[in-house]
Amino acid sequence: MVLIAINISETIQMNINQYFLVFLLFISIMPAHATPINVFACEPEWAALSQELGGSLVSTFSATTAEQDPHHIQARPGLIAKIRRADILVCSGADLEIGWLPVLLQKSANPKVQAGQKGYFMTSKMVKLLDKPTILDRSMGDVHAAGNPHIQLDPRRMNIVAKKLSQRLQQIDPTHISEYQNKLAQFKVRWKKAIKKWQQATKEIQGKSIIVHHNSWVYLQQWLKLNKVAELEPKPGVPPSSSHLAHLLKQMQQTPADLIIYSTYQDPKAAHWLSKKTNITAVALPSTVSDNETLFHWMDRLIQLLKDPIK
Ligand SMILES: [Zn+2]
Repeated sequence: MVLIAINISETIQMNINQYFLVFLLFISIMPAHATPINVFACEPEWAALSQELGGSLVSTFSATTAEQDPHHIQARPGLIAKIRRADILVCSGADLEIGWLPVLLQKSANPKVQAGQKGYFMTSKMVKLLDKPTILDRSMGDVHAAGNPHIQLDPRRMNIVAKKLSQRLQQIDPTHISEYQNKLAQFKVRWKKAIKKWQQATKEIQGKSIIVHHNSWVYLQQWLKLNKVAELEPKPGVPPSSSHLAHLLKQMQQTPADLIIYSTYQDPKAAHWLSKKTNITAVALPSTVSDNETLFHWMDRLIQLLKDPIK
């Protein structure tokens, strides 16, 4: 009886050892997927791009949503906790987040993502910026001193950022270089094809004139050859005033624009007022991806919304 008991316990012991070996083998081939690198994006488009380039190798978080104005958000404690755990920060830069990001960075005390480190990636640094003021005069409003930071609206610039961001991810996570390279190559093929499609789809609206709420569409204008004739903001960052709108109404009565554009996160009142008075269609365009939307879907949607009212 005792002998049988010993035999059974030995058998169990052997099985446990075997399981342990299998377990060790399992974790030795699975380490990457168990610990994705943490990407803290300031805007949803950079979270979406990181996702395209990293797949399951990255875990992305965006500080803002499509319904929030990225110029102004609260530096709330939840965001500090997120930056504290980040391996890389991916933001527009060029002062877009100047009102909240420096505070978050300082409070996070995370050395990996401070300015100058590998984990600090400003997308606007990777491309040529438009609207760089020659003289900086704050009386002109809250102008972006480093140039216009709203670069996500030009897919060609997005393509350049993709390459640089992939290289940075490879530096941070060198054990998966070939996976990042493959993902970048796949993205570039799909993106190039999509750019062609979008350009084809917008041929008929080239040269059309638009009024914008804030000067955040310059890259889209340049890419699709749209002609901006006015802004609803009297000065950058200053809400539309009744005197400025009255002035615009006069301007539109003489030479009407084809479309009024505002962002989904902006107050639609001024755009709707001018639209009603002039019969020019006003449309809310998404400046960035919505929750769980890919960059491809977002741009498809944006192009459709832009083109439908003016074609
Ligand atoms: Zn801006």
